[in-house]
Amino acid sequence: MENYKPDPVFESLGREKGAPFYDPVAAAAFPEHVVRYRNRRWAEKVGLGRLSEAEWIAHFGRFEPLPDNLSAPVAIRYHGHQFRTYNPDIGDGRGFLFAQLRDDQNRLLDLGTKGSGKTPYSRFGDGRLTLKGGVREVLATEMLEALGVYTSKTFSLIETGEKLYREDEPSPARSSVLVRLSHSHVRFGAFQRLAYEKNGEAIAALVDYCIAQFYPALGDKAGEARIVSFFRTVVQHTAQLVAQWMAAGFVHGVLNTDNMNVTGESFDYGPWRFTPVADPSFTAAYFDQTGLYAFGRQAEAGAWNLAQLGGALSLLAPVDALNEALQSFSGAYEEAMAEAFFRRLGVQRRGESDFAFVADFLKWMTETGAPYERVFFDWFCGSASENRAAQSPAAELYEQEKFADIRNALTSFTPEKPERLSHDYFSGKPCAMLIDEVEAIWAPIAEKDDWSLFDAKLEEISRMREALGFDASRFSP
Ligand code: AMP
Ligand code: MG
Repeated sequence: MENYKPDPVFESLGREKGAPFYDPVAAAAFPEHVVRYRNRRWAEKVGLGRLSEAEWIAHFGRFEPLPDNLSAPVAIRYHGHQFRTYNPDIGDGRGFLFAQLRDDQNRLLDLGTKGSGKTPYSRFGDGRLTLKGGVREVLATEMLEALGVYTSKTFSLIETGEKLYREDEPSPARSSVLVRLSHSHVRFGAFQRLAYEKNGEAIAALVDYCIAQFYPALGDKAGEARIVSFFRTVVQHTAQLVAQWMAAGFVHGVLNTDNMNVTGESFDYGPWRFTPVADPSFTAAYFDQTGLYAFGRQAEAGAWNLAQLGGALSLLAPVDALNEALQSFSGAYEEAMAEAFFRRLGVQRRGESDFAFVADFLKWMTETGAPYERVFFDWFCGSASENRAAQSPAAELYEQEKFADIRNALTSFTPEKPERLSHDYFSGKPCAMLIDEVEAIWAPIAEKDDWSLFDAKLEEISRMREALGFDASRFSP
């Protein structure tokens, strides 16, 4: 464990009596522990790659504290707007912060759980996660990381041998406990809760924590300027995150303020879906009847959520200044869309008009119903892929007059590291993750505990990640 760097700084927020950030909790005792997924790549990066299976289960199934780390797990307190309705009864209801450590770039990471048992915030819930829910979170995080989205990573998934009852899954359903690795779990909702309690002092303390850990460049700012510049930074990171989801064709599904992290890191994957085509109305969650969080409305959701965060911060800074910072969202979003789409297309940025190209490109994608992942695959590195695109099953689409302008633009951009095309990933088929495939991966697990499709998919995603070679840390704080 030579690279293991424990740093349980979240505790420092709560040493004073009555500190309103978290509650110590205990993990549930599970009847069984079967390791279903172990993120060896990230375990290596945080110095936990050498644990034996028994040690892995002790820490990530029974939650025995890691050395020199949090002495007991803590359920983090937060509120949130759920589908635009304020809910003051939530908080970590089936998870907790288990440990904090630093990665190979010295950034602070949280090990947080999902499905680890009841807490004071469980309400009517059982505090558990279904195995299918855990498998889906693994698939989402692996895909998003490969596609260059700033996302939490799934660290561990252990099947726990209980029977769960769920409306949206055949029941009894198998149970699991998941550990996620994330650059913090400070949700917009944590600030909302403190504002609800009119606790300005605690808001200032939480801003201090975020600046010290995630945005040290703001460290010299004081007073109202400190709050406003923190907010402006969160606005920018949120705009980047939404743009990355768009470029990945990803619909998070539940963009409530308790699912938004101030670092702009994507996390908490429930009813997510990848969209087959650029359909703005494509919706992930069956319970999202109005399409509030549809593919084409994610930027609006991000901005609305930011407005709520700004509202909470208005206890400590003038509304006008916060509003002005919020107004920077649309410009930041256009810039981030250009960045994210050019990166996914493997071409170099040109400047001013880059967003105009992205808008035209998306318009063409929407109007023609072009297969999302396929287009990025076929045209990776622009002109360097022209011959390959001509051989694609979608080639006919590229011959149409409607595509002429897009083609001209695409092939005029300078390819970024076109040597990436020599990876054998590009002689195969695009790696996608549409809902039918997710269900097809799950079916044999449910029917006969056959994990071969799941393992094969992780292998395929890994090859795509290597082929694309996106620097996952690029958008990190
Ligand atoms: P989510 O929609 O997963 O972000 O969850 C919203 C809130 O409901 C959070 O406070 C969760 O902790 C809580 N929650 C979700 N599922 C459960 C469950 N099975 N048991 C207890 N709390 C839950
Ligand atoms: Mg959540």
